[in-house]
Amino acid sequence: MRYLNYIDGQWKEPVSGEYKVNFSPHNQENLGEFPLSTAEDAQEAIAAAKKAFSSWKRLSFQQRAAYLQKAAEILKANLQEVGRDLTLEEGKTLAEGIGETQRAISILEYYAAEARQPLGQVIPSVNAETFLYTTRVPVGPIGLITPWNFPIAIPMWKIAPALIYGNTVVIKPSDITPKCVYHIMNAFDKAELPAGVLNCVFGRGSVVGAELVENPGIKAISFTGSNQVGLQIQNQATARGKKVQLEMGGKNPLIVLSDADVNKAVEIAVSGAFRSTGQKCTATSRVIVEEGIYELFRDRLVERTKELKVGNPLDHDTYMGPAVSKEQRDGVLAMIEAGKAEATLLYGGEIPADEDLAKGFYVQPTIFENVSRDARIAREEIFGPVIALFKAKDYEEAIEIANDTEFGLSAAICTNNLTLAERFIADIEAGIVHVNSETAGAEPQVPFGGCKNSSTGSREQGKTAIEFYTQVKTVYKDR
Ligand code: NAP
Repeated sequence: MRYLNYIDGQWKEPVSGEYKVNFSPHNQENLGEFPLSTAEDAQEAIAAAKKAFSSWKRLSFQQRAAYLQKAAEILKANLQEVGRDLTLEEGKTLAEGIGETQRAISILEYYAAEARQPLGQVIPSVNAETFLYTTRVPVGPIGLITPWNFPIAIPMWKIAPALIYGNTVVIKPSDITPKCVYHIMNAFDKAELPAGVLNCVFGRGSVVGAELVENPGIKAISFTGSNQVGLQIQNQATARGKKVQLEMGGKNPLIVLSDADVNKAVEIAVSGAFRSTGQKCTATSRVIVEEGIYELFRDRLVERTKELKVGNPLDHDTYMGPAVSKEQRDGVLAMIEAGKAEATLLYGGEIPADEDLAKGFYVQPTIFENVSRDARIAREEIFGPVIALFKAKDYEEAIEIANDTEFGLSAAICTNNLTLAERFIADIEAGIVHVNSETAGAEPQVPFGGCKNSSTGSREQGKTAIEFYTQVKTVYKDR
């Protein structure tokens, strides 16, 4: 099937007439072809978003919320189909695909409800005649550039707040996983969203994404993806006076202290590192274990990892599907090779031998120990199912190892010691902190984002999304 761009309320062929065929990372099944758009298509979408902005921003919040609610209902009715498409395209398991789609629906419902929240403050003026208050106004047409690893949740956690606060949108999804964003466009189209309010241009980042960053019609850029691309976008967009929000990589640590429940800690490590094939910005990639339980934890971790079923993501008993693409799998294998030279491989490290998986981009869940702190597998984001295990003599050394990274997205600790848990919450350099739960996870009603090189700009999701998607206006009104 051929999918089209969604511009000014119409399904449109790309000007180039060129398409890219997408294949399932499990078995190379053809999943459809998507436009390879040019800057011209992006310019048309930006012009539509600009035109629609003047009327969309004037609607009441309740009117805008009604479109979000309607789109949520349409996605709900198609939950199984969309979740399955997500799994076929990205490779995460069916439970995860349906779960992520459900989360996208919750995000729409959450921001529809935000329409009833206060927008500003009344502040006493020094002048008795003056009514002094703040309000918030939309920013304008916003460019959204999204990655492949949460192909429906991440686009939605940008689209929903952008629209509810009165902005219009042009989105460029990852060309590896475009189908989920097609489903979002379809839901808003069926919800009869006014033309031009939400536009989608499929294609390459270096072409379509670059046009969003450069074009003066776009007033703000919200980007999620790699540090390399994010920092380049930040330089270009800020030079053009645009507001920028970046969500980038992670190298997330899990600390396991001697008093922790070992079996629970193993499950937390396995789930945090290997669910979604480790392709989460919040995935656990470094596990730092206090020496008192190091050997016990390590042996149980390896035992448990051996039990995980790696296979067809549509099978209900599969724990871990394929990597999203050949390039991604090859990148993970290259990091594993680097790991073999600089640490001790405890388990995995290979392409699974199973013939049924031969057409897919599979890699075994992998565990290394004896990892030095300056090893590549200790420092670089792998974005695959690889754990680097560290032994620490006590909490102090564990926190020092945990913070020894350029990233600061998510972090976790397993302990029953309340005092150390509190110290960890204070000491760890991360935007999201977990106690006795895994590093991965993001509920839509709370802020999401990191510190250090993981994020810049205001936080996404929850109430904090208002910071990026609006600007404050201070009003002096004399009687
Ligand atoms: P990526 O390669 O940086 O791509 C992200 C998006 O940017 C894609 O849509 C890409 O288009 C586009 N892009 C590429 N070059 C561009 C350019 N020159 N100008 C404008 N746009 C451009 O990242 P990815 O591989 O899709 O995603 C994995 C990364 O995302 C990991 O580093 C992960 O940690 C990070 N991530 C972070 C979070 C978070 O919230 N912190 C969440 C999820 C993922 P193409 O279609 O051409 O690739």
